[in-house]
Amino acid sequence: MYKREMRETRDLTVYYEHMTTDDLKSALMGAVRGEVSDDAETLAVLSRDTSLFTRMPELVVYPEDAEDVSRIVKEIGRARGAGADVSLAARAAGTDMSGGPLTTGVVVSFTQHMNHVLEVGDGYAITEPGVFYRDFEKKTLEKGLILPSYPASREMAAMGGIVANNAGGERTLEYGQTEKYVEELDVVLSDGSQTTFKALAPAELEEKKKLQTLEGEIYRTMDALITKNAALIEAHRPKVSKNSAGYALWSIRNPKTGTFNLAKLICGSQGTLALWTKAKLSLVKPKEHRAMLVVFLHDLAILPEIVKRVLPLHPESFESFDDHTFTLAVKLIPGMLSQMGFLRAAKLGIDFIPEAAMIATGGVPKLLLMVEFAEDTIEEADRKAISARDALADLNLKTKIEKDERESEKYWIVRRESFNLLRKNVHGLHTAPFIDDFVVPPACYAEFLPKLNALLDEYKSHFIYTVAGHVGNGNFHIIPLMDLSKADNRQVILDLAPKIYELVIKEGGTTTGEHNDGIIRTPYLPMLFGEKMVALFDKTKQVFDPQNLFNPGKKVGGTFADIKRDMIKTIS
Ligand SMILES: Cc1cc2nc3c(=O)[nH]c(=O)nc-3n(C[C@H](O)[C@H](O)[C@H](O)COP(=O)(O)OP(=O)(O)OC[C@H]3O[C@@H](n4cnc5c(N)ncnc54)[C@H](O)[C@@H]3O)c2cc1C
Repeated sequence: MYKREMRETRDLTVYYEHMTTDDLKSALMGAVRGEVSDDAETLAVLSRDTSLFTRMPELVVYPEDAEDVSRIVKEIGRARGAGADVSLAARAAGTDMSGGPLTTGVVVSFTQHMNHVLEVGDGYAITEPGVFYRDFEKKTLEKGLILPSYPASREMAAMGGIVANNAGGERTLEYGQTEKYVEELDVVLSDGSQTTFKALAPAELEEKKKLQTLEGEIYRTMDALITKNAALIEAHRPKVSKNSAGYALWSIRNPKTGTFNLAKLICGSQGTLALWTKAKLSLVKPKEHRAMLVVFLHDLAILPEIVKRVLPLHPESFESFDDHTFTLAVKLIPGMLSQMGFLRAAKLGIDFIPEAAMIATGGVPKLLLMVEFAEDTIEEADRKAISARDALADLNLKTKIEKDERESEKYWIVRRESFNLLRKNVHGLHTAPFIDDFVVPPACYAEFLPKLNALLDEYKSHFIYTVAGHVGNGNFHIIPLMDLSKADNRQVILDLAPKIYELVIKEGGTTTGEHNDGIIRTPYLPMLFGEKMVALFDKTKQVFDPQNLFNPGKKVGGTFADIKRDMIKTIS
């Protein structure tokens, strides 16, 4: 009450310095139309994503529209400016593996109200951030279109994180990552002002630079920054085909058209530069028919040769999972039964009988490769799969062609669901994504993979692990299961990651292809990009968010101490 009186009598400095959660709650309730909550159960859910971290927020706000988002940002900015220790983090579905949406401040949650697909037009969709991908796709498919960069978490994730993480997935090999499809973003900037970031011709950029507003300041600073440092930025443009690490300074100016588009920078920035409230995304018409060549690989040494021969045939997807995944999936079939519905799972079990026989005679393959071709007719798709098999004929491999999507479904289920199955079925151990998303050039597999396996072997007493990934892009997902209540296991997370990243960086790779930096990888950005590039990231953050209001410690300023402090330390 005393505090409220101070606010009402406008003794604001004292008020904000002594601001309590209740004060903040009533200030936000007075400012926004959506709900504000400090319900303990809700906050406990929001204290987690799918990373190995936990951060307990103070409050959650559910904005009704962009105006509400603007009011939230203004209110929190005011409090922060006057000395209150408060910040915010945007949240869509909360499936992030890096700790991206976790905060000790205020969660701005989009799935409650801002969950509408506003328009699907000729080759594009306009959406709000709280739309789940599964609902988004239902709408786009009504027009025969999809966003082909959808992640493997397509049934759980929402558009907010798909854009803010620069998500990619099984079709990224052929179609690229989300950034390619982001045309325009309506955003709320850190002073609460609203604008649209989209491709600007040089004359339009000059007009924007004249604005005496935060937006104008952003355009002036970013244009100067990328012009002055063009050579440095170009030298650090990722050399692999997927990347979500750092700020995508190399993507702002389109070298072909000369346009300047800050929406490309916001994509992948994990809600650290601006909050997006509406997106215009381009879409593609998917090919109708698919056929898959399955390769049961026992000798990893041949993998680079396989990739070299297969990629020129342009598969739509080139995915893999390892012997650990395969063995665990078979063990966890009863869990699959209840999660998938009996009939579908029974079919899956029956369908694996030929593979089980093959394994009984030849052993579990080290890697199972899924090479899928998509075409307008099934005959053409089959022909492509057969030509891929022919291209590998002299390598003496065990292969199988699945002639349509019904037949290949079982492999996709294991590939897509493996992480989820582990998460839900292995008790007492946590999934610990800390080396979950690096990318290396496929040409280096012969040297890289033995070194990677030797490192994993060295630490194997601390975890159970599986390797799955987008082998065509060189993007590997290793998500160990660990007992995080043990300090020596938690130490492994800090010891092993830099050793693996050293190998990855030496080969010209990146620490994250699609899962992004978050709490777990931000401290590795200097190792990946070098101090000069990191200084440009700092400058970018500084101009967009001078008060460090948006998701502090992600992308810029994150430390190893953050990783240590916020790691889950209990048995699940
Ligand atoms: C089983 C499993 C498989 C996965 N597979 C993939 C995969 O194949 N590819 C892939 O890319 N990822 C994958 N992920 C990670 C994750 O699901 C994706 O990155 C997804 O896009 C995150 O979406 P979300 O809605 O859950 O985002 P959230 O977790 O809610 O948020 C992610 C980040 O986006 C920010 N954000 C959210 N909304 C906004 C907004 N409106 N404005 C600004 N910032 C915002 C948050 O602050 C946070 O930093 C996987 C995760 C799981 C659990």
